[in-house]
Amino acid sequence: MPDPRPVASSWSARALAFADRFVRPAAAAIDREDRIPDSIVRALAHEGFLGLGLPPEWGGSGGTMSDTTSVFETLSAASAAVAVTLSVHLSVCARPILRWGTDAQKEAHLRPLARGERVGAFALSEPGVGSDSAGLATRYRRDGAEFVLHGTKMFTSNAVSAGVVLVFATRDPSLRGPGISAFIVPPATTGCSVAQRLEKLGLRGSETTELVLDDVRLPADAMLGPEGSGLKVALSALTGGRVGIASCALGVARAAFEEMLRSARARDPEGARGRVAEAYAELASARALVREAAELMDAGAPFVRAASVAKLVASRAAVSIASAGVDLAGPEGTRVGHPAERLLRDARVFPIVEGTTEIQELILGRSLLDPNESPNAY
Ligand SMILES: Cc1cc2nc3c(=O)[nH]c(=O)nc-3n(C[C@H](O)[C@H](O)[C@H](O)COP(=O)(O)OP(=O)(O)OC[C@H]3O[C@@H](n4cnc5c(N)ncnc54)[C@H](O)[C@@H]3O)c2cc1C
Repeated sequence: MPDPRPVASSWSARALAFADRFVRPAAAAIDREDRIPDSIVRALAHEGFLGLGLPPEWGGSGGTMSDTTSVFETLSAASAAVAVTLSVHLSVCARPILRWGTDAQKEAHLRPLARGERVGAFALSEPGVGSDSAGLATRYRRDGAEFVLHGTKMFTSNAVSAGVVLVFATRDPSLRGPGISAFIVPPATTGCSVAQRLEKLGLRGSETTELVLDDVRLPADAMLGPEGSGLKVALSALTGGRVGIASCALGVARAAFEEMLRSARARDPEGARGRVAEAYAELASARALVREAAELMDAGAPFVRAASVAKLVASRAAVSIASAGVDLAGPEGTRVGHPAERLLRDARVFPIVEGTTEIQELILGRSLLDPNESPNAY
């Protein structure tokens, strides 16, 4: 008789062992102190998680997107900050370099990222520029064989620790999208500095910073992809990133559901039946959508719609289940340091990052209603 239980992939089994050993015991301190210990980042590198889903020929650990999402979910159920740090590194820094980079750029930047020797970051948002990324104001100009970047980026995750930041800049803001190009920026470059670290409601420990580019001089080979294709690079990175962020949200939803079960069993199992059933339905829907999006990516099929609906539903599920979890925990659930309280704060950030809920609705609505819209438009 075959065992009817799902067989854990070796990556998900490794993630569970890693989360139990390194992440779960540190999660409350990560939130309280707003810092992920370097030892955890080193352990992520040592385990090969910083190269997950990247090809071994470029120093990566191999593995599929389905493996990657199961690792994100498992780590996020222990600490969303740790999972989001990994998701940003892989989804919106390393993978775009894999997709758009020349062999020389991959050798110089992807290999150290994939080996876990450097952490990656992605700097698109600016003060007052988020959803409408075509309106960004950071400028670049050519100066002989060099590019010079000037401007300010906001809400850049991982920037304090990063060894590689993908920066998006325009040669002329009036051109909007077609004016934008992508650059690979080592943050140690003169003129590049973290101006402030932003303290947040949730995902505390995941660094979020203001990044200042004060006439940062870059060599000609710092441009990623053809000139003028920066918005395409950014949007394609964010589409894949959404599947990663959806799986991080799913991890928080799962942890909140487990916490909710503990509270309900301890306090009022009969009274909690309806809330628990509703939460279970939300969790199961989110899980199915995240898996579908990852499987489409693995199959090389269009996944724009699947990524948006997975991100929309998983981030809503995280907020809804975590909120119900605080209710079912009773007054204790509102106390700072209670697991239900941290999960609700972490959950609340997911509808905003890597494309807000309203932006997912716009993408979905457009793709569902416009017969000319390709599902793989980005
Ligand atoms: C914890 C955290 C980490 C982040 N990390 C990064 C990072 O690493 N790199 C990076 O580049 N950015 C990062 N961001 C920025 C994030 O991507 C933006 O916050 C997000 O894109 C939304 O942009 P905004 O905050 O400027 O909101 P706005 O675009 O100003 O939107 C405000 C509200 O208006 C709604 N809205 C906007 N446009 C429309 C529209 N056309 N139709 C309907 N509703 C609309 C939005 O949904 C939202 O509810 C991070 C943000 C957070 C909170």
